[in-house]
Amino acid sequence: MHKKLVLGTLLVCAIVIWLAAAWLDANSHARIQVNVTKSAEKEWFVVYQFDEQVARVTFVRNPDHTRLQRWQPVESEFYLAIDSETGHEYIARVDGQTFTTVAFKLDASYVALRKDYAPFTPFSDGGTAWFTGRFKVCPEHCASALKFSYQFTMQAPLADFIRLPEQSQRGQLTWQESASDGQMVYVGPQQLMAASDTKFETIIDPILPDSLKRSLTRDVPPLTNYFNQRMPHLTERPMLLASFSATRNGQFGYQGGVVANQMVLHWYGHSLAERANAPYFVEDTLWFVAHEFAHLYQASQFSNEDAWLHEGAAEFMALSYLRSIRTNGVYLDRRVATARETCVSTEQRYQVHYACGLLWAAEIDQYIKKTYPHGLFFLWFMYVEQLTDAPRTNATPLYFELLSELTDDAFAAQLRERIQTRYQRLPTL
Ligand SMILES: [Zn+2]
Repeated sequence: MHKKLVLGTLLVCAIVIWLAAAWLDANSHARIQVNVTKSAEKEWFVVYQFDEQVARVTFVRNPDHTRLQRWQPVESEFYLAIDSETGHEYIARVDGQTFTTVAFKLDASYVALRKDYAPFTPFSDGGTAWFTGRFKVCPEHCASALKFSYQFTMQAPLADFIRLPEQSQRGQLTWQESASDGQMVYVGPQQLMAASDTKFETIIDPILPDSLKRSLTRDVPPLTNYFNQRMPHLTERPMLLASFSATRNGQFGYQGGVVANQMVLHWYGHSLAERANAPYFVEDTLWFVAHEFAHLYQASQFSNEDAWLHEGAAEFMALSYLRSIRTNGVYLDRRVATARETCVSTEQRYQVHYACGLLWAAEIDQYIKKTYPHGLFFLWFMYVEQLTDAPRTNATPLYFELLSELTDDAFAAQLRERIQTRYQRLPTL
């Protein structure tokens, strides 16, 4: 009897604690529904739904103010504007009233954002990849103690496959995301291939020149081997999206990015067939792919404060890979010489990340190689492993701690000092 009473009391306590936890969770959490639609007429829309009334909705990522031109409110009582204090884009009603739902028609063409992933990456066969991070919003403002979670739904005509890594659906796909970066969603005619023999899930634009397509298929296995020998292995099968879109403003080039375990390579501009024959196109492409590969293996350990750390390392890892397969030495020497010149003279912060970053990484590599044959890769191996085990917001101190361990305190301190001085030389904004 006595035992039963104790057990009963414990059970009641457990239920109370469970209810309290559920209540706290529900009240510290804001769930946002984001429905993206591609219509039969190939028009794109986004509809937001909030559980509670909101007076304003702020975007999480604000690399520029292009939403103002590219997003049209479906109903005229809504508008998009820029917060004068934070510079962030937000949605509100013209009459200042609250709301729980709002819809926009979207411009799904390609736009290269310098500081962020392209919101839409079109493929020439009618496919499109879009970046979920672009659509994440916070009710009112983002500086809140609330945790946000997003329920995304993508709807598309039945002819299209809607794809996320290892997932493919026709018609509709629903998934959950936290407030973290985001991922690429592919919507188009290319279906998922069996995982059996490919280490990569690939979505490759058929319009890319044959030489480029061949090189992507040919270079991926040796690149994977090279990085697997030096860095912690990837935990999931990565997805490679390679595409091309024409531009009307005469701009051309390529842009890549890695988000989670997806690698996006996009070429834009005029005819690629012509460019594919230009001198060093093959080498440039390989460098570009190897650089993005390095990011994939860096396992999202990207420092916003010290971008030289991952960009410089990716540049150096690309150089090392190209050297290992005996790429044209003249080309490689020229790349290093250009980085040297740029590092001395540039006033652009992002160029310091890449150009000086490459040289600093090379210097680190040389020093570590005195003791450990894998040089900079070994430092990154330890860095990625430790950050995966214990993530931290500012990882730069850990990088220098490990560097001291693998070299010596004097070298690490002296390099850190030089890096700081180089950034201080940049003109203030
Ligand atoms: Zn990069």
